[in-house]
Amino acid sequence: MDVRFWGTRGSLAKPGPTTLRYGGNTSCVEVRGVDGTLIVLDCGTGAHGLGQSLVSSGGRCDGHLMITHTHWDHIQGFPFFAPLFIPGNTWDIYAPGALGQRLEQALAGQMEYNYFPITLAQLGATIRFHDLVEGQFAVGGVRVTTQYLNHPALALGYRLESGGKVIVYASDHEPHAPNPAVRREGEPPMHGEDRRHVEFFAGADLVIHDAQYTLEEYPQKTGWGHTPAEWAVDYAVAAGARRLALYHHDPLRDDEALDRVVEICRRRAGAAGTVLEVFGAAEGGEVRLVEGDTTSPRAARPPESMMKAGPHTILVADDDPTIVRLLTLALEQDGFRVVTANDGKTALRLARLERPALILLDWEMPGADGIEVTRALRNEADPVLRDVPLVLITAQSGAENTAAGFAAGVTDYLTKPFRPAHVRARVQAWLLRRRDEVPRTP
Ligand SMILES: [Zn+2]
Ligand SMILES: [Zn+2]
Repeated sequence: MDVRFWGTRGSLAKPGPTTLRYGGNTSCVEVRGVDGTLIVLDCGTGAHGLGQSLVSSGGRCDGHLMITHTHWDHIQGFPFFAPLFIPGNTWDIYAPGALGQRLEQALAGQMEYNYFPITLAQLGATIRFHDLVEGQFAVGGVRVTTQYLNHPALALGYRLESGGKVIVYASDHEPHAPNPAVRREGEPPMHGEDRRHVEFFAGADLVIHDAQYTLEEYPQKTGWGHTPAEWAVDYAVAAGARRLALYHHDPLRDDEALDRVVEICRRRAGAAGTVLEVFGAAEGGEVRLVEGDTTSPRAARPPESMMKAGPHTILVADDDPTIVRLLTLALEQDGFRVVTANDGKTALRLARLERPALILLDWEMPGADGIEVTRALRNEADPVLRDVPLVLITAQSGAENTAAGFAAGVTDYLTKPFRPAHVRARVQAWLLRRRDEVPRTP
């Protein structure tokens, strides 16, 4: 995937001699999936330059505009985004749906006669509006996952996956536990929602994160909906991300002051013992994420013992999409490839096709339940499937139920509710235990 920053400033455009290097335009990032799919993240004043660049290359220009929220610094470039004026172009526009105010109305509002001479309805391109909630969808060859951010407006972060690379865009966001005293430097977040925020970045190749304030400034800015840059580093470190772009720069911060923030953040990443690469997002800056590229630093590698655990595919089968997503994020953090099914029959088919190293099965699923799938696999001719560690996910951990599962050939249980950290530790144990059972040749 290719990334280009067109606007990196937060709150208010701040062009001028003091912001030449990092730029003065507000939020706008261009992303190209490996298949060429064009995604534009936010539509602040930076969208003007992007729009000009897109139409200057001529021809049809279709794309997907993903808006975190409709604060001005994220939509003011919308009426100036040239591809929207050209008949024949098609643009899909996404933003979190708020009760009583849909995306289309919010964008039309800033184009009312008092504010702008052209109405939304007069734009030449075909425009399709999509009100989003948390979830997953695909545009072209890019898998998109959305998750709510903590901000005074309903805001969504976007996780984009294409060609084996992951970009997460999380602006604007404030930590859920706002009192710096509740956690010491370098400690992982204590609040469950903060941990979920970190999980959203799991294994990302690039995290573009709100870093409007410094820790020193933060006590005066608590509740304004933004993150101290140092904590953006902590999130990226905890998630095992490779690169962090400090983003949504405060309009009061000039280039030299931003250099100092970047330096503080680099030292913090270094002190945490990782090789997370930290930089300040700058207008015109580009990042290229190439499939199979291993030259970039990799933080939080899985332990060597796990890397040798054999095939790295894990099958997760559950009809609850929240559980599937939670497990997928947790496992991908440790470098596993996760294949998923939401019913028993699909699970069985995928198990035969993929021959995974571990299978996590929900007890109660449509088609065939976890016990039936277990019995079927234990009777396979293929020894890989006969012996694969098979873990049942259940809310019922009573002795009677567990005995029935073990009788069917279940290896172990994962009892709901569970935490990702817990799952990761258990997965290591299941895989390592399995290796020890295999007779070793000298
Ligand atoms: Zn903003
Ligand atoms: Zn905002």
